[in-house]
Amino acid sequence: MSDMDVKREQLVVERVPKRLLIGGKWRPASGGREYEVEDPSTGRALCAVPDAGAEDAAVAMDAAAGAAAEWAATAPRERGEILRAAYELLVERQDDLALLMTLEMGKPVAESRGEILYAAEFFRWFAEEAVRIDGGWKTAPDGNGRIWIMRQPVGPALLITPWNFPTAMGTRKIGPAVAAGCTMIVKPAHQTPLSMLALAEIMGQAGLPDGVLNVLTTTRPGEVCGPLLRDGRLRKLSFTGSTQVGRALIEQSAANVLRTSMELGGNAPLIVCEDADLDKAVEGAAIAKMRNVGEACTSANRMYVHASLADAFTVRLAEKLGPMVVGRGSEPGVQVGPLIDAAGRDKVDDLVRDAVAGGARAVVGGAPLADRPGYFYPPTVLAEVPPDARLLKEEIFGPVAPIVTFEHDDQAIAMANDTVFGLVSYVFTENLRRAVRYAESLESGMVGLNKGMVSTPAAPFGGVKQSGLGREGGGVGIEEYLEVKYVALDI
Ligand code: NAD
Repeated sequence: MSDMDVKREQLVVERVPKRLLIGGKWRPASGGREYEVEDPSTGRALCAVPDAGAEDAAVAMDAAAGAAAEWAATAPRERGEILRAAYELLVERQDDLALLMTLEMGKPVAESRGEILYAAEFFRWFAEEAVRIDGGWKTAPDGNGRIWIMRQPVGPALLITPWNFPTAMGTRKIGPAVAAGCTMIVKPAHQTPLSMLALAEIMGQAGLPDGVLNVLTTTRPGEVCGPLLRDGRLRKLSFTGSTQVGRALIEQSAANVLRTSMELGGNAPLIVCEDADLDKAVEGAAIAKMRNVGEACTSANRMYVHASLADAFTVRLAEKLGPMVVGRGSEPGVQVGPLIDAAGRDKVDDLVRDAVAGGARAVVGGAPLADRPGYFYPPTVLAEVPPDARLLKEEIFGPVAPIVTFEHDDQAIAMANDTVFGLVSYVFTENLRRAVRYAESLESGMVGLNKGMVSTPAAPFGGVKQSGLGREGGGVGIEEYLEVKYVALDI
């Protein structure tokens, strides 16, 4: 790396306000507590940020509750224009924001830039939705009364985001909350606070009033979120993260009967039917597996391939994934960055060892890269994976593609649905009748047909079963932040 590159990396980190944002003021955590943010490609500290506690949460709640009424009363056009301005700023600063994301999260800069643009699109989408919040008016069936329906902001919201898409999972919640007229407290994952702090600064520059968006960075999420969930002024929780944490948060939300949106874990099947176009299937599988180094809830976790195509598919996928360049995400040409931390890498290693011990064969990859600092695991294709392998049941969250064969569609559908998760499924077939059958039979909130990626702000993203509650994006995304009120008129 040249001196100039090193300087640029330092500069993008230096520029981020390393403070909590509460009521429009950047401030340290109470007691001055801080923690270090790590670069997963080196294991070294990048900088320190505030480590908020319960006292900070209480002040943030005051700020969000204090700003709620005035913010709810702002003109929808004004809220939309703030989002539009934030969209423009994200696009304008995509290079610096992408590098910042790569430094704290690891993914290659080109992918980080893709995420910044994807994240910005949520703001553009919800800028357009802010002015389309509608209601209803109808004559009651008896002909005398009238029924008037309006939609109002649900109220102060707690938004908890994961580390794997540090900006997009933020804008997917902040966008509709702003559009609907809700104030909010955002708690980013402790691994990736910098992207959220940079985003919060942009929201201020775009004209968001003080107190509407408050940000708490912390290594103690329970201590910060627990009191917020118990505070009667909080009306909404939107969470993206693991099913385990989501389940505990649903329980905590019961006390005050909060509106909840839950984007939880996945275990996506990818099915390659006997009539699939092999080029499309290999291309789609590579995208569904390698996007975000497999650290995505939508990542293809299990590949079910018709026995007649299995050998060709396995060889071609291995040829595509094997040569991918692994390295530090900020270096040119790198296609596969590190995993987020040692625990993430060790989990992938464990799952692969378990599969291999049960009879799976590593066609490429199969062991962590121990010859360098950071948490690297190479792209791995596993053939002949036994049905009881743990990685067919658990989220791998790494660049490992396990391949299982099938003979009949019934069998593939049964195996695909044999999971507590239901976020997304992928199917590759050239037969329309078969495509419709799979789309209707698969128990998941989303289906990719001949496509390895489904995410777009214009479509409702979300899961069924233990993958979640509610949808983000699309026409329904804003509904999660609105309450329906009905007025009965006797005229
Ligand atoms: P995680 O559940 O460990 O953490 C997610 C967030 O919850 C973080 O901000 C974390 O600090 C916070 N958290 C943890 N314990 C908490 C507590 N007791 N109280 C309040 N907050 C708490 O998940 P992760 O490892 O950061 O993210 C990966 C998971 O997220 C995967 O399971 C992935 O599938 C899921 N995910 C889902 C979607 C989706 O849209 N369905 C999108 C991205 C990621």
